[in-house]
Amino acid sequence: MEAWVLIMDDERVEDGKNKKDLFCTICPSKILLPRVGTYAKCENNLPKMTQKKGAEEVETDLITECFQVKDPFDFENVGFSKVVGNFKYLTCSDCELGPIGWQIIPDSLCYIAPSRVRHGLDPIIPSSIDVDENAN
Ligand code: ZN
Repeated sequence: MEAWVLIMDDERVEDGKNKKDLFCTICPSKILLPRVGTYAKCENNLPKMTQKKGAEEVETDLITECFQVKDPFDFENVGFSKVVGNFKYLTCSDCELGPIGWQIIPDSLCYIAPSRVRHGLDPIIPSSIDVDENAN
């Protein structure tokens, strides 16, 4: 079920910021507006979004790039997990899919994993907008 194609780096990042709206990968919830997150390299083991049932250890993915967001209030929609160690995990506020990112307590700086969000929806270009240059 690939609803969107792999997006190249330059499709995701522009001037060091997220180029597009960031959405939850499975629902229409908008997480971040364009140019709010700052692209950075990072290194963090983030729990996988789906864990095997009955697994003794939490499975993680190594996240090597992120969008930094200064303040939780800069998000359009986001949910936060309970504090785990010194992390709070970011989830979709609508469907609770996650973690899509993390926050290191007590810092307000948040990190979004680009690989766990959708970068823009298919652009809807309002073709009905007529620019009538010949209007008198
Ligand atoms: Zn969602």
